[in-house]
Amino acid sequence: MTKKYVYSFREGNASMRSLLGGKGANLAEMVNIGLPVPMGFTVTTEACLKYYQEGEKISEEILSQIFEALENLEKEMGKKLGDTEDPLLVSVRSGAVISMPGMMDTILNLGLNDESVKGLAAKTGNDRFAYDSYRRFIQMFGNVVMEVEHNRFEAIIESVKEKKNITLDTEMDAEGWQEVIKHFKEKVKEETGREFPQDPKEQLLMAVEAVFKSWNNQRAKVYRRINKIPDDLGTAVNVQTMVFGNKGNDSGTGVAFTRNPSTGENKIYGEFLLNAQGEDVVAGIRTPQSIDQLKEVMPDVYEQFINVSNLLEKHYKDMQDIEFTIENGKLYLLQTRNGKRTAQSAVKIAVDLVEEGLIDKKEAVLRVPADQLESLLHRRIDPAAKAEAAAKGLPASPGAASGMVVFDPDEAEAMGKEGQKVILVRTETTPDDIHGIVLAQGVLTSRGGMTSHAAVVARGMGKPCVSGCEAVRIDYEKEEFQVGNTVVKKGDIISIDGSTGQVFIGEVPMIDPELSNEFNEILKWADEVRVLKVRANADTPHDAKLAREFGAEGIGLCRTEHMFMAQDRLPIVQQMIMSETKEEREEALAKLLPIQQGDFEGIFEAMSGLPVTVRLLDPPLHEFLPNAEELIVEIERLKSQSASEELAAKQEMLKKVRALSEMNPMLGLRGCRLGLLYPEIYEMQVKAILKAACTLAKRGIKAIPEIEIPLVGHELELKTLREIVEKTAEKVFKEEGIRVEYFIGTMIELPRACLTADDIAKSADFFSFGTNDLTQTTFGFSRDDAEGKILPHYLEQKILTDSPFIVLDRKGVGSLMKMAVEKGRQEKADLVVGICGEHGGEPNSVEFCHMINLDFVSCSPYRVPIARLAAAQAQIKHPRN
Ligand code: ADP
Ligand code: MG
Ligand code: MG
Repeated sequence: MTKKYVYSFREGNASMRSLLGGKGANLAEMVNIGLPVPMGFTVTTEACLKYYQEGEKISEEILSQIFEALENLEKEMGKKLGDTEDPLLVSVRSGAVISMPGMMDTILNLGLNDESVKGLAAKTGNDRFAYDSYRRFIQMFGNVVMEVEHNRFEAIIESVKEKKNITLDTEMDAEGWQEVIKHFKEKVKEETGREFPQDPKEQLLMAVEAVFKSWNNQRAKVYRRINKIPDDLGTAVNVQTMVFGNKGNDSGTGVAFTRNPSTGENKIYGEFLLNAQGEDVVAGIRTPQSIDQLKEVMPDVYEQFINVSNLLEKHYKDMQDIEFTIENGKLYLLQTRNGKRTAQSAVKIAVDLVEEGLIDKKEAVLRVPADQLESLLHRRIDPAAKAEAAAKGLPASPGAASGMVVFDPDEAEAMGKEGQKVILVRTETTPDDIHGIVLAQGVLTSRGGMTSHAAVVARGMGKPCVSGCEAVRIDYEKEEFQVGNTVVKKGDIISIDGSTGQVFIGEVPMIDPELSNEFNEILKWADEVRVLKVRANADTPHDAKLAREFGAEGIGLCRTEHMFMAQDRLPIVQQMIMSETKEEREEALAKLLPIQQGDFEGIFEAMSGLPVTVRLLDPPLHEFLPNAEELIVEIERLKSQSASEELAAKQEMLKKVRALSEMNPMLGLRGCRLGLLYPEIYEMQVKAILKAACTLAKRGIKAIPEIEIPLVGHELELKTLREIVEKTAEKVFKEEGIRVEYFIGTMIELPRACLTADDIAKSADFFSFGTNDLTQTTFGFSRDDAEGKILPHYLEQKILTDSPFIVLDRKGVGSLMKMAVEKGRQEKADLVVGICGEHGGEPNSVEFCHMINLDFVSCSPYRVPIARLAAAQAQIKHPRN
């Protein structure tokens, strides 16, 4: 049996996405519903993969299936490709499984040649239309298939327009286009050494092949890397009968979203151009009209379009992004897909769809991409600052940003990589600019609508974008733009607000966002389903309060080293470190005790009734001393001033710094090793924690301290320290005349701890994974070195798809975690297990933590809402008790 590589639109449906690509599957689905879709067929993604397997060749089998499908199409349309009297024309369109807007290539008007164009002109009685179509075809085919640079063609159009003394494409007559066509063909010959192909079947095969090839063009590869789309999916190719938006002023083309993709407002949002073909809108070359104006120009078509978009929304139960063309007053649909949207819009649409009865709450929770929520926590321009906008464009992607003006995407990329904040300013952006957009804070374009590539891409990345800001006149040569009388040069600072479309010269004050009602609604639904608890990492009463407002159910990690760093404590800490004897050390620690106790009282009070995990001192001591170079400079300075007493002290300190210096501090004297060598440090911290809890208990406030010992790798480390903690606790309770409940546990952050978790669990009430250190020690990466030198290459070469410091490495680090949970609970069934690395706020990692039965995740306060949502999504996808 031969395999089927080509499907008519009548044979497919929406569920065949992976075979037909998103575009092909949805075109077929629309045909099934009975919507006006120009007929055609789809060459499958499997054909594309086979093309690559066979060394970039379309096999005989596939060729014959394509020609058979073409024959059927010709019969159905009653026209033949290349016919000299009434030719069938088709578009050849790429269509990947996961939509990659604008990243791959499309060719319109295929089937035209020197003869069939005459037929088209005669049949339609519209010479201008026929020759305009032909020149568009040569232009697109010449560019995409024959690789002649786009601007070679544009230059020819410009020169003919100049000769004819006209400025707009729409003013060009048939003769003008004929002249353009003549020059186009000469140019193709000159650049490629071959004639522009006249045989329509040859044109078709060349175009199909070019679409297959476009799967591997540079911008598609970059897009896939950024969006984590696998490289081995391949693209389908859609061959579709042409309809014409360029037949005059009763024709046109457009793109519309059924709801606002920026804000989620339930109002059609789109744009169209009269007398134009599809490419003109998406390329952002001409700034189109708002869809609202269609109501005035063609009320019937408008009404029909509204009906269709309602129908499609109900059918797909989601907001749709629809491409359409109007030919002589008749509406055709060319594409529909679930529309890309901002997080704000995703949240609002999900809540509205529940209210409209289209989806249930669980579905709504799944609809909001948790990792995008961070953009809702974006800052915006402070309205109270009353800053004066220099210009206003279209609000294409919300959020505000300030940065240096850069005109070149390569430069934006380079500066962004250096950590500089830049705003990419372009007349319009093309998909080739994507690498610059990624590293810019935001994008400003002087042309193009809200459905232009710049806008779509920026929204996808959650970056602010102002598009179509025509008051901004850009001069690439001089590297500056002018707005009113102001000249803004490369490197000058501007601010943009993609929610309002405003552009400001200079920096403008910004404010923190508030959570919308819809956002809170979604989070409420998320809390109803999730079983994983969410805590926050917080070291101060202020952060603890904030975390509670964001819904944290406790503190999963309170680091104590920050309490040692503050200005009023550092000298005492240094005195402690410089001590020669235990007595001296204890004297310094006694001074620290009341200060630390105060810190804990503040935090416990903010978290009253909720557990607070306090980690005892973790970093190596040298981190509290100045570094050696600094000290040497200081000592030289003091020598010249002969300030002998200070000099001696500094020299003493330098000696200590050198003594404490380690080959590899990350693996050196830190964590519980410090506690074992200098038990008086941990004793002081335990006193401070428990005295604080006792003091609050006397005031009727319930503190639930969980004392956490870091960097344990051997059961006896924990056993020894547990005894010290317990002894100290008893002393405190006796002194205070009151007892409080408290727990002792350990951070699990070394492979050995995972491997021997059953033994360690004997001395632990709880485990908390420190996945930062666990990732470092499992990979043998030191994070700073790896992130600077190694990981960028690994990601580039796709050795790793994500940095393991951002997305938890399930296979390696995750296996160790799973083992530790199982072994730990084998020993102690009610062992509480959580995670407190920043992974605890990353959706993919949260899902994994849910799957291995952790009790809680803990992350920074701002990520708590993200973790709440991700935990709910995990429960819906992988239910557990
Ligand atoms: P992209 O993925 O870049 O949007 P498309 O394949 O959707 O590429 O096509 C680009 C433009 O050409 C769209 O505006 C589309 O509506 C238009 N187009 C594609 N096929 C046809 C056709 N058969 N008739 C008229 N316009 C078409
Ligand atoms: Mg499209
Ligand atoms: Mg650690």
